[in-house]
Amino acid sequence: MADGASRVASAGGAPILEVRELVKHYPIRGGLFSPSQMVHALDGVSLSVARGETLAVVGESGCGKSTLARCIIRLEQPTSGHILLKGADITVLAGRPLRELRRALQIVFQDPYASLNPRWSIASLIGDPMRLHGLAARGERRGRVASLLETVGLGPEFMDRYPHELSGGQRQRVAIARALAMQPEVIVCDEPVSALDVSIQAQVINLLKRLQRQFGIAYIFISHDLSLVKHISDRVAVMYLGQIVELAETRAARRRVLHPYSQALFSAAPVADPQAAAARKRIILAGDVPSPIEPPSGCRFHTRCPYRQDRCAREAPQLRAVEDRLVRCHFAGEPGFPPEVPA
Ligand code: SF4
Repeated sequence: MADGASRVASAGGAPILEVRELVKHYPIRGGLFSPSQMVHALDGVSLSVARGETLAVVGESGCGKSTLARCIIRLEQPTSGHILLKGADITVLAGRPLRELRRALQIVFQDPYASLNPRWSIASLIGDPMRLHGLAARGERRGRVASLLETVGLGPEFMDRYPHELSGGQRQRVAIARALAMQPEVIVCDEPVSALDVSIQAQVINLLKRLQRQFGIAYIFISHDLSLVKHISDRVAVMYLGQIVELAETRAARRRVLHPYSQALFSAAPVADPQAAAARKRIILAGDVPSPIEPPSGCRFHTRCPYRQDRCAREAPQLRAVEDRLVRCHFAGEPGFPPEVPA
């Protein structure tokens, strides 16, 4: 593997979290006359993230990125594959050892209201996990909660309020404070700002970046918003129908992407420069995303790929090193592939 591609495959430094060949299939029970089927939500996803790094995972709705988030934090049990946190395989741990390691791995969900129990005060929402993990003695807890609220830009007066008394942005700050209370080393951010107003989105993103600089936290940042991903991430993994199709450093992906699906996805991302936006042509893909119950044969993207050839429906491409990245396409790396999008 070329140096650039191997760097991109294995995170910038020693990985704090590694996902190896993760598979998640959901069985669907058949009826009287129909056989049982399987939803292929994830099929062989491998990635890693280093301390203080942000790895973005992007793709259309239904590509498997939220299932990946839920498997990583063990809200879902993977069908097969391994998740290593600080070298320990958390897919085979249970009980207390799992709880202790899980403390270092937190999640911030898309909808802060749904993830915060509305009957609990903010002090309990942040303080109770600390109690469960023995992270603060009883007499210290309120002080720690106040300090965490301050870290995320909220005053101590929020302690005795309830989630419904807060705005969306304030609730997401509470959700982040709650994750921080566990002193995490990795936070999975599952569309953390997509339910918020645009003006509030920037505040929450800046907060996440500041916390990363302050505490060296690694983020796995799940998003469908490429303009955001370009701004916040160090590397980006593009997913299609349960598989990674391209994994690259974000600054390299901003210059050029090599998989035809990434090309279409990036062509649709908003750009700030009006001249660049006017010069750019958006690629509109034909058809819908195929059903994950019966993914297409060969290359899963072949039913929508503008550059498909006969071989694509027969042979499944592997994720392989091409130049400075990993790409899952038979033709990536060939001169002039994929063709530049005409203006
Ligand atoms: Fe398109 Fe074929 Fe490449 Fe798949 S393998 S992305 S169908 S050109």
